[in-house]
Amino acid sequence: MVNIDYALNVICKETKIIGTENKDLLSSVNRVLAEDIYSKDNLPPFNKSSKDGYAIKSEDTLNCSKENVCKLKVKGIIKAGDFINDTLKNGEAYKIMTGAPIPKGADAVVKIEDIEIKDDNLFIFEPINENNNIIKFGEEIKIGDLAIKKDTVIRPVEIGVLASLGYSSVKVYKAPTVALIITGDELVDINSDIKNGQIRNSNEYSLKALVTNLNAEVLSLGIVSDDRENLKEKMKYALEKADIVITSGGASVGDYDFVKDILKEIGADIKFSKIAIKPGKPVTFATFNEKLFFALPGNPSSLITTFEKFVKPTIEKIMGKDDFHSEQFKVIAMYDFECEIGREKYVYVEIKKKDGNYYAYKVGSQCSNHLMTMSRANGIIVIPKEIGHVKAGEAFNGEFIFGINFKKYIKE
Ligand code: AMP
Ligand code: MG
Repeated sequence: MVNIDYALNVICKETKIIGTENKDLLSSVNRVLAEDIYSKDNLPPFNKSSKDGYAIKSEDTLNCSKENVCKLKVKGIIKAGDFINDTLKNGEAYKIMTGAPIPKGADAVVKIEDIEIKDDNLFIFEPINENNNIIKFGEEIKIGDLAIKKDTVIRPVEIGVLASLGYSSVKVYKAPTVALIITGDELVDINSDIKNGQIRNSNEYSLKALVTNLNAEVLSLGIVSDDRENLKEKMKYALEKADIVITSGGASVGDYDFVKDILKEIGADIKFSKIAIKPGKPVTFATFNEKLFFALPGNPSSLITTFEKFVKPTIEKIMGKDDFHSEQFKVIAMYDFECEIGREKYVYVEIKKKDGNYYAYKVGSQCSNHLMTMSRANGIIVIPKEIGHVKAGEAFNGEFIFGINFKKYIKE
């Protein structure tokens, strides 16, 4: 049995970027840029007004005051998208809308709230500085400047930047294809009624959701019965077609848990097959050529915990995100419980914040077969390996769990 950090280190060492791919702009959100993005344009491409107002020559307003009101002649109106081929002379003004190009000869915009207008006459009551309310040509970025660095995660704001620079597609790190093999003779699909001894195959759906949430590609091979030859064929096929293979179930020590044996048989390099984590001990990690193989436990909350802890960072690293750790904080247990010595425990709880401190409340049984507990939780407390009893009032490290949404978001 290996420690969590050891397991993460081994996995991290085996995990490499598998290439790059071009994505059209919108599908690149949350992906990682695999190229530097340089500006193809000057932004803005012309001097433009940042306000609705009047384009003027600032020198015409030098001596303006409430006592000495200046009067300028309004020649016309420029709206966004217009281009006026005229040069403003002293004593003249153009009404101008936000985003419209500043006409030649003008060097300032006085905003509409600061003036009075009567017929075509504009009255100004104070001096207006040069460049007032003008967004200058190339002020935001110039042709050839670096706009977004390689390795940046593309958020909606970067989508906007790329769109403004005229990029309709970008090069990002390639998403791995993740094959899913679900083992278990007890499983039926979610549309089926449950007969004696059967349960619905929830893991396939959780796994698909987990993988697609990370923007990776799913290759689902469905339920495979606990039949050695059949399973072996599916595993070989998956290793051929996918970059990462995940099996659910069949990885423990039961009579029909064949995954590990098959891995040995086909010559995969098994790096470890047990991790000191609860839920989730029976995790096998193996490599086969350049492919990565995770045999995850069938217990639903073990499966999700180990996916989050070990597979998610793997997929993220392949896709250019190299951040393994979620933020931890001190959390105080609010109930007593017993736990297993020898493994690091991830205890699913509801975390509440009061007076700047975090408190952990019980939400249900920690049996790794129960997904309901995880679904009711908004966080975990991490109980170290050597601890077997937790008493209310003791402090541990805690973190908010994955999949958190606003409904479950922390209540102050
Ligand atoms: P296993 O890891 O195959 O020994 O399975 C451990 C437990 O998880 C058993 O109680 C199974 O019935 C349950 N289980 C296995 N696979 C699934 C699945 N695909 N969906 C829901 N529960 C499962
Ligand atoms: Mg099984």
